[in-house]
Amino acid sequence: MPDLFSKQLLQWHSRTPRPLPWDDGPRDPYHIWISEIIMQQTRIEQGTPYYLRFVSRFPTVQALALAPEDVVLKYWQGLGYYSRARNLHKAAKVIVSEYHGRFPDTYDRLLKLPGVGPYSAAAIASFAYEQPYPVVDGNVKRVIARYCGIRESIDQPSGHKAVSMAAGDFIRGVSPSLFNQAIMNFGALVCKPKGPLCHTCPVAKRCFAFQNDVVESLPTRSKKKSNRERYLHFIVFRQKQKCLLIRREEKDIWKGLFTPPLLETKSTRSPSAKQLRAVALKLLGHHDIHLVGSSPVVTQKLSHQTLHGRFHFIEIHSAPLTLPEDGAWVSAKKIAEFARPKMVAEINLTR
Ligand code: SF4
Repeated sequence: MPDLFSKQLLQWHSRTPRPLPWDDGPRDPYHIWISEIIMQQTRIEQGTPYYLRFVSRFPTVQALALAPEDVVLKYWQGLGYYSRARNLHKAAKVIVSEYHGRFPDTYDRLLKLPGVGPYSAAAIASFAYEQPYPVVDGNVKRVIARYCGIRESIDQPSGHKAVSMAAGDFIRGVSPSLFNQAIMNFGALVCKPKGPLCHTCPVAKRCFAFQNDVVESLPTRSKKKSNRERYLHFIVFRQKQKCLLIRREEKDIWKGLFTPPLLETKSTRSPSAKQLRAVALKLLGHHDIHLVGSSPVVTQKLSHQTLHGRFHFIEIHSAPLTLPEDGAWVSAKKIAEFARPKMVAEINLTR
């Protein structure tokens, strides 16, 4: 017998449809997987155009596996968290080579794919195969911690376990895909982080937090996310309406994407002429350069870091003697073919 909470949740869901992008066709695990990974980092409304573009370029797992990584990253551009795109690509190759292109259909096998954790495995297992695995994301943790009165910190294993166990009980006896979709939507639309709609909430009568007036203090978290401030200076070398881009190989943000050469310092203050000449000498083999201007600071927040970026535009007077490894001189016409982080893609580098 389904729990009353699950029944009421599904009734609410039937009155409040919020289709996911893959909802209008057959349940295809490949499409569900792509959609879930994209929606982990963006709202459905914002993520849907990215999803549609991605699956139209890579309509099957085989197409994704065969594509060069640069092209995959290009189609991910704007979504951030590029390691997720690289993992999608790696996992597609594994599915093609080890599973002959057939998507794994058990939770445990799904978990073995690169980049697939418990959340994604549960989403694919439930949405594609109707297996009773609850998805436990931030929305679900909040709803269940409040409804059940779970006081353990949800960012700690004990809190996560308590929520997962309760979710596992609630999903029994109902359609796993409907339940998971319903509770995620409910967390996004009703039991919101701030200003939850308790007075019209269909489960308020049995909600611990509402009945005990502790909605504002649940869920609990034990630690504040640390934030790192970073100051990134992009050195835009230009010659003959082309700019120099280099593929980032470091184990850091934006791995595999193209940016102008980057100098990281401790402030937004422009690098000195000596520093710029040193970069030029290292990359171009000479330092016959002329700084023509710098951009204002652009700021971008990532989950654990705040990036402060500035672009310094430099004309070079003598032909470069060397070309850095993974570097390319790129014209305005060609630049769209290079996957760049959002901060870089928004600046006109070649003008
Ligand atoms: Fe969330 Fe309020 Fe509903 Fe409880 S009553 S589940 S806190 S919206």
